[in-house]
Amino acid sequence: MGGLNNCAAQEAIGEQALQLLQNVFGYPAFRGQQAEIVEHVASGGDALVLMPTGGGKSLCYQIPAMLRKGTGVVISPLIALMQDQVDALAEAGVRAAFLNSTQSFDESVRTERKLRNGELDLLYVAPERLLTSRCLDLLASSRIALFAIDEAHCVSQWGHDFRPEYIKLSILHEQFPDVPRIALTATADHLTRAEIIQRLQLDEARQFVSSFDRPNIRYQIVEKANGRKQLLDFIESEHAGDAGIVYCLSRKKVEEVADFLNANGVTALPYHAGMDNGTRAANQSRFLREDGIVMVATIAFGMGIDKPDVRFVAHLDLPKSIEGYYQETGRAGRDGQPADAWMAYGLQDVVQQRRMIDESEADENFKRVQSAKLDAMLGLCETLSCRRVRLLTYFGEPSSACGNCDTCLNPPVSFNATVEVQKLLSAVYRTEQRFGAMHVLDVLRGVDSEKVKQWRHDQLPTFGVGADRSDAEWRAILRQAIAMGLVTVDHDGFNALKLTEASRAVLRGEQQIELRQYQKPIKQKFKPIKTKGYVESDLSAEGQVLFDKLRWWRVETARKHNVPAYVIFHDATMREIARVKPASLDDLRHISGVGEKKLETYGAEIVALIAEKA
Ligand code: ADP
Ligand code: ZN
Repeated sequence: MGGLNNCAAQEAIGEQALQLLQNVFGYPAFRGQQAEIVEHVASGGDALVLMPTGGGKSLCYQIPAMLRKGTGVVISPLIALMQDQVDALAEAGVRAAFLNSTQSFDESVRTERKLRNGELDLLYVAPERLLTSRCLDLLASSRIALFAIDEAHCVSQWGHDFRPEYIKLSILHEQFPDVPRIALTATADHLTRAEIIQRLQLDEARQFVSSFDRPNIRYQIVEKANGRKQLLDFIESEHAGDAGIVYCLSRKKVEEVADFLNANGVTALPYHAGMDNGTRAANQSRFLREDGIVMVATIAFGMGIDKPDVRFVAHLDLPKSIEGYYQETGRAGRDGQPADAWMAYGLQDVVQQRRMIDESEADENFKRVQSAKLDAMLGLCETLSCRRVRLLTYFGEPSSACGNCDTCLNPPVSFNATVEVQKLLSAVYRTEQRFGAMHVLDVLRGVDSEKVKQWRHDQLPTFGVGADRSDAEWRAILRQAIAMGLVTVDHDGFNALKLTEASRAVLRGEQQIELRQYQKPIKQKFKPIKTKGYVESDLSAEGQVLFDKLRWWRVETARKHNVPAYVIFHDATMREIARVKPASLDDLRHISGVGEKKLETYGAEIVALIAEKA
């Protein structure tokens, strides 16, 4: 094709792609790099797409698959989600199916026949299935529009999601050299990217790297006093009736927190690896399908959960690394609507995580890496500047203060704490590095406890030198001192505080220490702010009533069709309907998220519901 023709062809593809986006998926415009990616792949190019969770990766292969002749083959390790993905596409009128080990032989044969006959736009396949000779033969005798390799980071041997079958996917390039391939991942780091390119032979692929920022997520890290109670306040004041995920470190705590929330009127379900498979699967399915359930879970929960309307992710325990924290919080707000990442963090978290590393059986090298990761995480918790800047810097992305995190909205006050830290270190020293935090702080604050009297610590020169500050303030100072490595906690069973190499410079007055001023946990409701990522829809009282009615209708309809509620319409779409109150099918067509097929299936019901007298 000549240059000019090529250009014209590209333009025609762009035009058709937009038509599909609007008519089938019901969205008015492409987001970010979607349009470029779609045009590139639809015209036969290979691509490597790095986009954060919720960025909109799926459309990047779904639309080219529909534009090109033949079937788009999507390789994904997430077998449990294939049914929902296929159902969601069917709702939009796209011909999709899957091949994996959960279906019967008859079902696979039927799907294989459809593929051969060119009756499918998209076929989802598990990697181990794809690599069978039966499947490769099937593909060879069918017309393939493209290969999409989802969760492409699974090819990385150093990552925690490594799948050996992914390495063998280079076979696609060898056996189907003319079929374009698009590899997609939400993993940001450079090493993984290089590994994907090398192992999947994607040297020729064009790379599309999006910003990893999630502007609609508001980050908030509060000082922990009574974690469960603070969580309940947070849910009641900001997320009543919303779907959310609460992460805890242990199975026991998961159970306790779920019970606590239920006892206080929040519908919560537990999820952890110690539960039997049946209950676990049932809880996951309820979380996905019903509205407004809070999942209380260990990190065993979450890989591939693509529920778009998770409104908050809360951490009651400190994650081990920023990677983990970002992955977990990233499950909030995939639909681009405002969402919260909330965490309660305190002295105990620092002590516990440090101890877990010290006591682990791993080799020294591994422990050093874990320690460095924990330090970065602690740095995020204790930072005096924008949390988002801190997060993005960690992933190598420059940015500026965001205006949508707690440190931006409510800037912490710092103070020169050199004297306080000296007092603390000296109390540790004077009590011979044999006592835990509680006792040392009692000595500092001049508390006449039994233990103080027993050890005659009221005779020490440091006794009471910190009486001007509250226990909570001292705990905040101690926590930061531990986070900075100025004090360590001995894991001898007594959790005795000890000095470190770094303590000396401070005691000698050679180093100044700047700390975050303690802030009393207050119930504060931040105003939602307008970020690039979402369409704000402040509903009137009347609009809210209609929105609630639509939610009920959606619950019923989802049950009837046996699909998750969000597959029918997203919250964003229903809010827009509640705001605009379209009076006819034609008006309804203009709402973002209402495609032709959905208009046909649900349009009349919705219009009737709106017309109903309240
Ligand atoms: P990812 O796979 O990157 O995590 P998805 O493909 O699941 O993200 O998309 C996230 C959400 O954004 C989905 O609910 C999807 O329908 C929605 N979405 C994607 N592209 C657009 C768009 N151009 N306009 C509106 N919504 C979109
Ligand atoms: Zn910020």
